[in-house]
Order: sequence, then structure tokens, then C-alpha cells
Amino acid sequence: MAEAPEGSSKRRRAETNDSPDLSSLQRSSEFWFSDGNIVLIAGNTAFRVYQGLLSRQSQVFHDMFAIPQPQDAEHIEGCPVVRLSDDASDLICVFRALLNGTNYFPRGTRTPIATIASLIRIGHKYEMLTFRDQALKVLRELFPIELPGSFTTFTTYLEDSPVLMDEADTITVVNLARLTDTTSILPLALYGCCQLQQKLITGVTREGRHEELSRSDLLACIEGKDRLALARGRAVNSIFVRMKCYSGFGQACSINLQNITRLALDYATLKPPIAAALDSWTGFIDYMLEHHKPCEECLSALRLREKTVRRNMWKSLPEMFNLIVEGWPENCDE
Ligand SMILES: [Zn+2]
Repeated sequence: MAEAPEGSSKRRRAETNDSPDLSSLQRSSEFWFSDGNIVLIAGNTAFRVYQGLLSRQSQVFHDMFAIPQPQDAEHIEGCPVVRLSDDASDLICVFRALLNGTNYFPRGTRTPIATIASLIRIGHKYEMLTFRDQALKVLRELFPIELPGSFTTFTTYLEDSPVLMDEADTITVVNLARLTDTTSILPLALYGCCQLQQKLITGVTREGRHEELSRSDLLACIEGKDRLALARGRAVNSIFVRMKCYSGFGQACSINLQNITRLALDYATLKPPIAAALDSWTGFIDYMLEHHKPCEECLSALRLREKTVRRNMWKSLPEMFNLIVEGWPENCDE
């Protein structure tokens, strides 16, 4: 009989005494070493790997393997057996990092979110802190506490990121943040969830693993969507409405400003997702210059307003989800 952690590295669950049903097991084609000295079973996949390597990386595995085994304990090909409740795909990612010496975050390539999630889940559960923390660092950088300079829309922000993911995967990111108590990731990740329509409810499936938001995060997003939509409307108002030209170009400029304002209101109300409160208006303003160019002074004022409004939007992002995040920018009114 072997003992494996369940859910938390601090909590243990005694495994059953059932003999391994070898006929239903599939040996991992990638991680079955003939001189391995422990067999780990996850789902229907069996891995024959090395106790010493796992023990060095993980105090949880170290403690697990140190427990004396009874005479009638499960064995496969002479190796003691440990049954784990993890997904086999999660273990494969960690074994690749551990046994293949793979650099998981090489420059110039995009790491799939499923890989990052596996490293965090297994790293967290088995206290393999190097893997967990390296993967969390990638998410912290992608979901930071400062408004990223490269952010124009959430979709393009993710498309240009070092992580291979789309908006639906922010559900996984939220769950990883909750698992590891990494609050700083949550505001932008929940913002990403608010850009979803049906998938906000139905969830996302990657490599056979299905992720949905918890009920409380789902409720926070439903409320957040409304708040973001209202904030987007206020942003348009703050950037464009009541612009007056005080330069010598007076009337011609004012007409252009009125046209820009009218089109901005149309754009904001007609173009989904209406919860895209953080979207930059720089592209819109640039586009307007072709036919409705204001004077240079008013153009500078518009750009400054846009910058200030988006900074303030970022400042209020945690509040949209009733979060308090240590280190989040407090005062962006300058
Ligand atoms: Zn003007």
C-alpha cells in the first residue's frame, strides 16, 4: 500500500489495498525506465521513474517514499506502486522538466498554458517549488500589477504574449491564482474572463482537462461585467465629451471634436465586448485623424485624457471584482 497526497501537500489520504489491475494500465511511452525504482500510477497511466530524483525535488515525495511498506504492498516488476490522484498529463510535464532537463521557458517560443498549469499544480501539491515558482513568475509577468505598456486590447495582448493561450484560458489562470493564493494575478485574469460570453459559464478544455470558474468567481465576473461596461461608458465620456478648443483653430477644430465624440459613442455602444473597459483608444484617435483631425493642442489633450482615464481604470480594476491587492497602484490621477 502506498500513500499519496490529496489536494494539499499537508494532507494525506491512505490509498486502497486493491491490487493493480495491470491489464487496464498503460505504461508511459516517455517515462518508463527499466532501471526505475518506483511506479507511479495516475489515471490509467503508469510511470516507472526514480525515487531519489523525486525525493530531492519534493519533500512530499521524500516523506511518502520514507514510509515503510508492508509485505503485501502493491508492486509492479519489483517496484513499489504509488497511486496518485493527479492527471497523467500534469505529471508528464513535470517529468519532462525533471528528467529531460528541458528549459520550459526558452526565449522566442511560446509556452502552452497547459504546461504552465501542470507545473504549477504539481509543483504546488508536491512542494516542487522551483517548478511552481518559475511557472508562476511567467503568469505574474503576463498578469501584472501595473498596466502593461503593450496592452491595446486583451486579445492582441495575449496573442503577443510568451504564453500560448486565449481569453478562455484566463479561467485556468484564475483557478491557478486561487490554488496558489497569488492575488496579484486575479484582477487582469478576471478581466479576461469578463470578455467571454458562453465560455464564462461552460468553461474551457485543454488536453483533456476541463476548467470552470468557481461559483464565487463566476458571480464576481457577472457583477464585474456590468461594472466594466459602465466604466467603459464613463471612459468615453471622460475622454471625448465636453472637449472644447481654445486655440486659434476654434470652430473648425470644434466641429471635428464633435464628430470624433459622436463616433466614439457609436463605437463604444455598438462594438462588443462592451466590458472591454481597458482597451486603448489610441488606434481610434489615430484613425479619426484621417477625416476629423483636431488641432494639435486638442489632439494632445485627447491623448492625455485617454492615458489618464486608462490608468484610472487600471487603478480601479481590483474593485471591479471586490479584490484588495497588495502593491496595486493607488493613485494614478496625475
Ligand atoms: Zn482644437
